[in-house]
Amino acid sequence: MKLFPLFADLRGRRVLVVGGGAVAERKVKSLLSSEARVTVGSPTLTDTLRTHAQQHQIDYVEGYFEPKWLEAAWLVIAATDDRELNCRIAALASDRRVFINVVDDPALSTFQVPSIVDRAPLTIAISSAGHAPVLARRVRERIESLFDHSIGALASLAARYRPSIRKARPDLRQRREFYDWLLDGPVSAALRQQQPQQAEQLLMTALSEPLASPQGRVILVGAGPGDPGLLTLNALRALNEADVILHDRLVSPAILDLARRDAVQIEVGKNPGENHDHTQARIHALMLNHARQGQLVVRVKGGDAFVFGRGGEELEFLREHDVPYEVVPGVTAALACAAYAGIPLTHRDYAQSVRLATAHCRQDTLPDELASMLHEKQTLAFYMAVSQLEWLEQALLKHGKPGDTPFAIIENGTRPEQRVLHGNLEGMAGAAREHKIVSPAMVLIGEVTALAPKLEWFGTRAAAGEADLLHEPGSRSEADSLIACA
Ligand code: SAH
Repeated sequence: MKLFPLFADLRGRRVLVVGGGAVAERKVKSLLSSEARVTVGSPTLTDTLRTHAQQHQIDYVEGYFEPKWLEAAWLVIAATDDRELNCRIAALASDRRVFINVVDDPALSTFQVPSIVDRAPLTIAISSAGHAPVLARRVRERIESLFDHSIGALASLAARYRPSIRKARPDLRQRREFYDWLLDGPVSAALRQQQPQQAEQLLMTALSEPLASPQGRVILVGAGPGDPGLLTLNALRALNEADVILHDRLVSPAILDLARRDAVQIEVGKNPGENHDHTQARIHALMLNHARQGQLVVRVKGGDAFVFGRGGEELEFLREHDVPYEVVPGVTAALACAAYAGIPLTHRDYAQSVRLATAHCRQDTLPDELASMLHEKQTLAFYMAVSQLEWLEQALLKHGKPGDTPFAIIENGTRPEQRVLHGNLEGMAGAAREHKIVSPAMVLIGEVTALAPKLEWFGTRAAAGEADLLHEPGSRSEADSLIACA
């Protein structure tokens, strides 16, 4: 069940609460704080409810439930401990298309009341659709501790000054910057220190200051190889502030989902076979145009922007055109794939250095460079190598790398569909073909990769079924095995 979240305006609207016990009392309390007109129907009332009735804060109908009570109601809450009665009320409410909540009975309810964190006018609502109330309560406690109560005062202050802010910062982007300053700057600090007058004074002073013309900028963000948990806090903040997001194909949808809802997202990925320089020129033009319009452009790349990401070229271009920029590093595929496959890239016994290389431009790979890859106790990490495996294997063997050097290929590293193939260099390309390894995949070569079967941790449990399937007897060479399919 997936519920549609909704905040209802109950001011002046009739809500029927059936039941007059402690549970009903709690519900009435929150309904009254939303200024609903509450009718409580029940043979008896708690003392507090009785006081509410006497003070005309609620209307009280004394007696047992009657269907006509439903007539004027926008919402119904059934808070009786008589399940049969609750069922009847629920059926009648549904007939009349009136939303009903039967307390602690999601099956009978057509709406549920979330746990809330109340920082009025800010309300944070949490729901597990009734499936995991304990979890929802935990989440609520965590959020409670994240925001102290001054956030409510800040929201009220901002609400009071909204028209003046709008007038002083007519442009949407400037306005957003102003609100960011409100949230992060001295006004919020003053409120936290319980200095409301000082906070208001600071706000007024800021509003009367002349406005600098908006300046666009670019944040170059490395988003890691797929798992959104590998984003840095700075990357998340940039995604939340972006006006325009230019992203590569490799950036996973789960990460883009975290971006500000009204940011314009443009995929500028390079497809195989496309003229890459052409695409790169388009990316440069897009960054420049949007930044010159005063927008915050977030250029998101898979992994790290400076590792086979052409981030350097993009910065050179921006510097040439005087566009200010920032860089947020990301977890590069070699590091993340190794970690998620249980491969320590360096190890006191097996590897003293790591080499990040690409097998993509093989024409440019000089024999010298290959020769330097033969050192022992070195881990080689090849990007963009899937289509070059035959050549890579042959070239390394030809230059004298031993055929029994272990390798691991991590396909879709850090993602739920991650697969890890391992074996020996001699036969690597064949094994990858056999297991239909596709891009994106990281090729790691060196002694450390032999530790993968021992140290693997990611997705191994779910893996067994599929790995077995791929390991049907006779379907693989002796040299390799697929150790983990998430
Ligand atoms: N800037 C990126 C690399 C871009 S080159 C980074 O720092 O990671 C693209 C190559 O990165 C792919 O061909 C593949 O070799 C590697 N890669 C990126 N994401 C990957 C992933 N989730 N799993 C395995 N390899 C990945």
